[in-house]
Amino acid sequence: MPNTMLKCSACGSTRVAVLINGKPYCTYCGSKILRTHLIRTLINMQREGLITSTIKIEEYADS
Ligand SMILES: [Zn+2]
Repeated sequence: MPNTMLKCSACGSTRVAVLINGKPYCTYCGSKILRTHLIRTLINMQREGLITSTIKIEEYADS
């Protein structure tokens, strides 16, 4: 798959590094999206009681 055809779905950069949910992203946007995704996943797990609430995930959610 030629990377030259891909553009970052968030900022339009052609320096695509990762595919997330089938969409291309550059390193910068990709890491931001992955971080947000991970935090959401952790919050959901916390709500379902899969992990303890001693981890204050919400503190990281806004940045
Ligand atoms: Zn980008």
